[in-house]
Amino acid sequence: MDSSQLRKNRDLVLEDIQKAAVKSGRNIDDIILVAVSKTHPASMVSELFKHGQAVFGENYVQEATAKIDELQDLEIDWHFIGHLQSNKAAKVVGRFSLIQTVHSLKLANRMNKLAGEKNIRQPVLVQINPGDEDQKSGVRPDQAEELCSQIIALESLDLQGLMLLPPFFDDGEKSRPYFKRLRLLKESLEKSLDREFKHLSMGMTADFKQAIEEGATLIRVGTRIFGPREYCR
Ligand SMILES: *Cc1c(COP(=O)(O)O)cnc(C)c1O
Repeated sequence: MDSSQLRKNRDLVLEDIQKAAVKSGRNIDDIILVAVSKTHPASMVSELFKHGQAVFGENYVQEATAKIDELQDLEIDWHFIGHLQSNKAAKVVGRFSLIQTVHSLKLANRMNKLAGEKNIRQPVLVQINPGDEDQKSGVRPDQAEELCSQIIALESLDLQGLMLLPPFFDDGEKSRPYFKRLRLLKESLEKSLDREFKHLSMGMTADFKQAIEEGATLIRVGTRIFGPREYCR
């Protein structure tokens, strides 16, 4: 894809974000576009960065850290959004401004130890498993409170909210009930844990408008910006 098309794609997504925000009476500043650059080269990331896109999401540790190294002179906010194994935690803690996919206490403990050694507080989200398909990753909604309260007790992790990867539908309206449930879960956790969470990460190319209408603060858009990938999630 040429660079003018890339910039145009991103601008069109921003227009749609704006429309969805207006429609739902939300402040546009509360919605952050995470450009999901997995499988796409660092050159496309730097092109978009020059165009004003500051936040990028990556799924694969090796691919992501190679891009981060290559683009280290740019002040990019990198988010980790892929499945994370505890044995890879050392490669992500301190390198991503937000790690969105914490799914177990084991992983959280490991990350907490690493962040402590680096003298940082690592921002994280807990990934929620929507529960009604054989999805590999995320904690079940009924176990979210326990995991969140355990993470809150870890002093080198900064729990900022929840992330959701629902089953894929072409029709974004089909995702809406999942988004609604995630928002309600966040609200109920805020009550029971007596704290506010800044982020709800939900919505991708097919359904980010619905996600915004249901309260998303982080939307993760790949295909609509970068075009199709050669392999899928
Ligand atoms: C790949 C991926 C995205 C982006 O998906 P698109 O449909 O290309 O917008 C968002 N979130 C996660 C967790 C992903 O793995």
